[in-house]
Amino acid sequence: MDFLSRQRTFHEALESERLDGFIVTHPPNLRYLCGYTGSNGLLLFTGGRRTFFTDGRYTQQAREEVCGARVVIARGALVAAAGQRISAKEGVRFGFEADATTVAAAAVMRKALPRNVTPKPVSGLVMRQRIVKDADELREMRTAIVLGASIYRRTVDMIRPGVRESEVAGQLEFAAREAGADGMSFETIVASGKRAALPHGRASANAIPRRGFVVIDSGVILRGYCSDMTRTLFVGRPGREERKWYEAVLEAQLAGIAAVKPGKTAGEVDQACRRVLRRSGLGQFFTHSTGHGVGLEIHEPPRLGKGQAEQLRPGMVITIEPGVYIPERGGIRIEDMVLVTDTGCEILTPVDKDLLQI
Ligand code: ZN
Ligand code: ZN
Repeated sequence: MDFLSRQRTFHEALESERLDGFIVTHPPNLRYLCGYTGSNGLLLFTGGRRTFFTDGRYTQQAREEVCGARVVIARGALVAAAGQRISAKEGVRFGFEADATTVAAAAVMRKALPRNVTPKPVSGLVMRQRIVKDADELREMRTAIVLGASIYRRTVDMIRPGVRESEVAGQLEFAAREAGADGMSFETIVASGKRAALPHGRASANAIPRRGFVVIDSGVILRGYCSDMTRTLFVGRPGREERKWYEAVLEAQLAGIAAVKPGKTAGEVDQACRRVLRRSGLGQFFTHSTGHGVGLEIHEPPRLGKGQAEQLRPGMVITIEPGVYIPERGGIRIEDMVLVTDTGCEILTPVDKDLLQI
């Protein structure tokens, strides 16, 4: 990972925002900017330099991991230690992460800063850089996605009536850890039968019924990067209506993928999926947005939802995951991760999407 060039780019962003310095505390942003993977850390940008603060528990880890910043082991609150290092000579406009700083931490920071220095809450500045993945990140993400897909494929074999949803989830999660994953991107969803109508049906102790849809949504974290995929299969023989629903969701998902191009807005991609489901009379059952960015975090910008104006750019990695959820009947979701390229997109999830019957 080229942390120094990320830090340089961030210094440029600070200049164009006319900020004299910046305090980063959100752990994924710390990992992105300097390589630190611990929980308590603070990266201070001032006049072309970086200083990293953490507490005594992370002395060794910080020395091993942190790139491009001097490491300071602080006692007490990191924001206070950082605040004391800032002198008014370095400028008076300091930014901090509005979305990752508690009201209490902001108060401590204000107290520690010289009187004429104004801390300014700033939203999403590091994220604006993270939204486009660099070559190192794409390599890591491809590896995570391939791992997520391979454990999914192995787990499908155990699905049959009578097996608990939690057993399926447990197997997926065991296989992920066994293969070296840091953990799961989110709580694994295994929703079968009527429970498939719950868009966020976390695996329960219910047994998979003799017939019906099974929605499996899972992802792994590998060396910090998340994967995310959903497939829906059918236990027993699907009826005509159920096949029609599945085909409609698949058609919507393919329409979404076809709509992904640099310059298109996130809202246009969402619209492409929604149009297909509306035409099939299923529009009212598509109750969530079409997708989201993925990277060091499972839900990152851009959000692919109604009216979202963010334009797609090459290097963004997003999910396309339309679904329909029909109360008392079940539900279907199909989700791939795709990489926005110069001309369209590349599907990163290497798993077949025809309706699998068990
Ligand atoms: Zn998912
Ligand atoms: Zn997702």
